[in-house]
Amino acid sequence: MNFSSELLHKYCKAGPRYTSYPTAPHFHGRFGPAQWEDALRASQDSGRDLSLYVHIPFCDTLCYYCGCNMIATQDYAKAQSYLDVLCKEIDRVAALIRPGRKVRQLHWGGGTPTYLHPDDLRRLYAYLAGKFDIAPDAETGCEMDPRELSRAHVLALRESGFNRVSLGVQDLDDQVQHAVNRVQPETLIREVYGWLREAGFDSVNFDLMIGLPHQTPASFERTLDKVIDMAPDRFAVFNYAHVPWMKKHQKLIAEETLPQLETRLALQKLTLEKLTAAGYVYIGMDHFARPDDELVRAQQNKTLYRNFQGYTTHKDCDILAFGVSAISQTEDVYAQNVKVLSQYRTLLGSGKLPIERGLRVTHEDKLRRDAIARIMCDLELNKTDFGRQWGIDFDSHFSDALGDLAEMAADGLVTLEAEWIRVTAAGRVFLRNIAMAFDAYLRQQAPGGPRYSKTV
Ligand code: SF4
Repeated sequence: MNFSSELLHKYCKAGPRYTSYPTAPHFHGRFGPAQWEDALRASQDSGRDLSLYVHIPFCDTLCYYCGCNMIATQDYAKAQSYLDVLCKEIDRVAALIRPGRKVRQLHWGGGTPTYLHPDDLRRLYAYLAGKFDIAPDAETGCEMDPRELSRAHVLALRESGFNRVSLGVQDLDDQVQHAVNRVQPETLIREVYGWLREAGFDSVNFDLMIGLPHQTPASFERTLDKVIDMAPDRFAVFNYAHVPWMKKHQKLIAEETLPQLETRLALQKLTLEKLTAAGYVYIGMDHFARPDDELVRAQQNKTLYRNFQGYTTHKDCDILAFGVSAISQTEDVYAQNVKVLSQYRTLLGSGKLPIERGLRVTHEDKLRRDAIARIMCDLELNKTDFGRQWGIDFDSHFSDALGDLAEMAADGLVTLEAEWIRVTAAGRVFLRNIAMAFDAYLRQQAPGGPRYSKTV
């Protein structure tokens, strides 16, 4: 993976991460609670199973790099009253769902779900299990912050029914941790990891982050050596998205301490080399897993998909998302909850669903969403099969995309054959750029449209 500086700068541009298509900035306020209720009713006989997402927005302290919808507070009463309102939302939505629809996947994210006390973790899981039919073999995962975590939290999750967890590690370097206000020594990570293994979770993921202040290849190599030694099942390695115009607290990070483009690329290259040498398989944009992991098998079988939780093996599930800012999805619509806690409380208090905005996808959106998913999940696309599946002549339908891809082929990011578009090893770093070729909204975007983070 050697790129000229010119090429790096050419492709280092703002672009979506494609956890949805159309992307969230295109959701609009003409889609509200009534439209979401209609969509839920219409989805009842789709034969699709369910994936539940629960957003717990609270955190003890603020990490300066944070891009999530979160509330830093030490006042636990806020979380308790939030749980009361969350249960109202769960009641409202569950009443619209036909009994018997199986939950195949359940995920709690945030914020920090483990901000909740162990007893409340148990109560919330039991509440959901009382309202929905969670399949015995469902993938049930929870994000956790190693700070403020106790063995009692770990046992509460495991005994409730969670079988996978994701631990926010990010970087083990002391200087980096202080610069982002997230200090969690290696000894703490090892202790928590020991509890997770002892509790018998099927899968433990570590989240790492590239592009944080003061990171260098040498410092990050030390982090990689340590986390590889712990041997989690998966790694999710995200690029830090520095978007201080959207996330004001990111101004607390001194820009001059952020690694420059060439260093960020070197960090990506190092990560790819070290994790693959340690036996992990590179899944796609930011995920690595052991060869026997279901994500790897799904990629091999071409059943991998991408949604708001990243890569998933549950392509054919409707996502019901609960909590502030959470985004739900059926085959035909996206629906996002209000982001402000007081509004969330008021709407549910008056018996309304807290939907703020959303979108009904068109046939063309679905077709392009599928093309983007094939690139990001399979790293290749068969034009003939795709054209047959969607009833189009691929080359004429995507003449716009093929123009961009021809330039990327000349730059070595893809290969274009009569039937196939394939992402090259170098192109994996620029997966978002390749996917952007299929994005009709981006193509039409006027100056001043949505701003995204940098692709590299
Ligand atoms: S713990 Fe996670 S959600 Fe909370 S501030 Fe840190 S990065 Fe953001």
